[in-house]
Amino acid sequence: MIMRSVISDRTLLEPKSLADALKMLRDEGPLTPMAGCTDLYVSLNFGTLAETRFLDLWRLDALRKIEVRRGMLSIGALATHTDLIRSRAVCQRLPMLVAAAREVGGVQIQNRGTIGGNVANASPAGDTLPVLAAAEATVVLASAGDTRRIPFGAFYTGYRQSVRRPDELIVRLEIPRIRGRQWFRKVGTRAAQAISKVVLAGVVPSRRAEQPRIALGSVAPTVLRAARTETALAQGASLEEAQRTLMSEIVPIDDIRSSADYRRRVAANLLAQMLAGR
Ligand SMILES: Cc1cc2nc3c(=O)[nH]c(=O)nc-3n(C[C@H](O)[C@H](O)[C@H](O)COP(=O)(O)OP(=O)(O)OC[C@H]3O[C@@H](n4cnc5c(N)ncnc54)[C@H](O)[C@@H]3O)c2cc1C
Repeated sequence: MIMRSVISDRTLLEPKSLADALKMLRDEGPLTPMAGCTDLYVSLNFGTLAETRFLDLWRLDALRKIEVRRGMLSIGALATHTDLIRSRAVCQRLPMLVAAAREVGGVQIQNRGTIGGNVANASPAGDTLPVLAAAEATVVLASAGDTRRIPFGAFYTGYRQSVRRPDELIVRLEIPRIRGRQWFRKVGTRAAQAISKVVLAGVVPSRRAEQPRIALGSVAPTVLRAARTETALAQGASLEEAQRTLMSEIVPIDDIRSSADYRRRVAANLLAQMLAGR
């Protein structure tokens, strides 16, 4: 097998600051942002990477910060999965994101792969996406001209499509405080190094009258918030009714990893486990 290990006939721009990077995107685009490169290198290696001009974000430490700002958990786009696992703020405020980060690839991938790359890559199987959907995160996009804040539920517009413009970078994710018990589970062939068959992240409220939050990956063209199932549960539906609603609400496909029927069944089982706190 031929391994392509260098970017030879390609251009790499190396900005020194975020402001530089945004100017380069505006004036010298189109450019493809590069963060940890764990997704980009797969396409490079397969020979399917059509882009030839790249913008290296890796040294922009300002985008790596994780902090609590004005009551919001703010996670820089360049925070790696290892950074998420090690962050006291993320462990305290968003343990379901720590659980998701632990299941991304192996340690090497966790050390390089970033949350911004996971979100921008827009795979329906991205492990952090259901967490961010259930957490009602905001995606902060910056361009040389302005900053836009997009609710996570409005970020994706279709399979691997998002509202991000080519002159914009994801700079951070903002997550409001969450009340209730957080839950995350990934079902795949193996716990890590395997793309999920189904991922479910959710929040079970401490009070019955409040609506639970349920988000799933790998069961639709984009990450899916199970709004009908959430409403049914808040209105007192039994577990069986809620499972039936969930199975009709998701739109999984048959592919090499799993069948649509199996994914429906697994999603229903995960719902039962989440509600039972297992
Ligand atoms: C062996 C292996 C195992 C993996 N296992 C998993 C897994 O279990 N779960 C999972 O979810 N993923 C997995 N992945 C996929 C990948 O590691 C993650 O999606 C990772 O978070 C991508 O981050 P990155 O920084 O490496 O992105 P990159 O490869 O640098 O970029 C990915 C995409 O995002 C864009 N981009 C990156 N950062 C920004 C930004 N700040 N603003 C705008 N666009 C940006 C790039 O242009 C590119 O299109 C795996 C990958 C490999 C190679």
